[in-house]
Amino acid sequence: MRFDVFTLLPQVFAPYLNSSILQRAQENHLLELAIHNIRDWTHDRHHVTDDTPYGGGGGMVMKAPPIFEAVESVLGSAPDCPVILMTPQGRPFSSVVAQELAEMPHIALLCGRYEGVDERVREHLVTDQISVGDYVLTGGELPAMIIIDAVTRFIPGALGDPMGALDDSFASGLLEYPHYTRPEEFRSWKVPDVLLSGNHAEISRWRRNQALIRTYLHRPDLLDESQLSKEDRNTLQEFIDAHMK
Ligand code: SAM
Repeated sequence: MRFDVFTLLPQVFAPYLNSSILQRAQENHLLELAIHNIRDWTHDRHHVTDDTPYGGGGGMVMKAPPIFEAVESVLGSAPDCPVILMTPQGRPFSSVVAQELAEMPHIALLCGRYEGVDERVREHLVTDQISVGDYVLTGGELPAMIIIDAVTRFIPGALGDPMGALDDSFASGLLEYPHYTRPEEFRSWKVPDVLLSGNHAEISRWRRNQALIRTYLHRPDLLDESQLSKEDRNTLQEFIDAHMK
């Protein structure tokens, strides 16, 4: 899978994207990343990419011409991949969206700065708009890295454990169960006995119950969308009766 990223700050990507799982995915040819500096498509002496907004007001706006030139010279005049604008006004990013994007062979991400991009970029160049949350960052570079990271986890073979991403929080509709590792006892806090029992059916049941309870306590909204079995509902009811009344 290939990502073309268009940005005014290409230097911020390498330390993160060339580390750990993302680095390994690139070495294994599962992931290809190309970071393009929009400034390279300016034609004036000072490589200006922003200007004051028509109508007045504070802040600067990213000019349309260098962005169009950058995207069209890399992807052609009719890109055959989605061109996704990073914007707090976009559709919310989620595990479901990450899985949807992981099915695509090629994606372009456009990072805004200042007050954002000239509206004609949104109207005539981008094909999708994504927000990473209801807050405003100074630029689209972190959102782009978040998307690349979350999507890469769903590329088959990118994680050591092939089922890893599917067990994680949100992928199954619930928050994930708690994890423990050695030592068995730390400051008198013990690992739950069931995890040391070797009984895989019991461990699975305990993990499912913990995931249900965690989701109920921290993200009850997720339960409305989840496929719960009768046993799941009983587990939750028992927990509520014992702890919440
Ligand atoms: N004036 C814009 C608004 O109110 O909608 C915010 C601009 S923000 C300061 C600059 C850039 O950061 C945006 O163009 C976008 O690329 C990126 N950005 C900021 N917050 C974001 C978010 N929550 N999700 C995705 N991109 C974001």
